[in-house]
Amino acid sequence: MDERLPPPVQAIADRIADGWGEIIEAGPGWFDLITRLDAQLAHLSPGYAVEQWKTKYGTLRYYARPEDIDDIDSQMTFNEIIHNAEDESTNICEECGAPGQQVTLRGWIWTLCDTHSQLRRQSA
Ligand SMILES: [Zn+2]
Repeated sequence: MDERLPPPVQAIADRIADGWGEIIEAGPGWFDLITRLDAQLAHLSPGYAVEQWKTKYGTLRYYARPEDIDDIDSQMTFNEIIHNAEDESTNICEECGAPGQQVTLRGWIWTLCDTHSQLRRQSA
């Protein structure tokens, strides 16, 4: 995905740790979710590092680690916050951010609202 990211999302992409390729693939409908997730994680661990995020089976996958990886309690909270956001992504259209649901089209799973699911069906 070569599209330019909106500034708040680019700021999160800038957290990507050295040594990680910039794998940041998620539809624009999830940018709000990702921005909210980032705010929660940064609140817990201001210097946390992102490894990548991507879409897998119509679900957001967000890989990140807290600043202090030896703090087991905050690590657990950290992972829980990510897990909740990943769960939430299964109800948000990845194209536009409207309420959506998972649909399977030609063996590929997407999370889409009714409109985008129809559009995707027509273009498939
Ligand atoms: Zn949509």
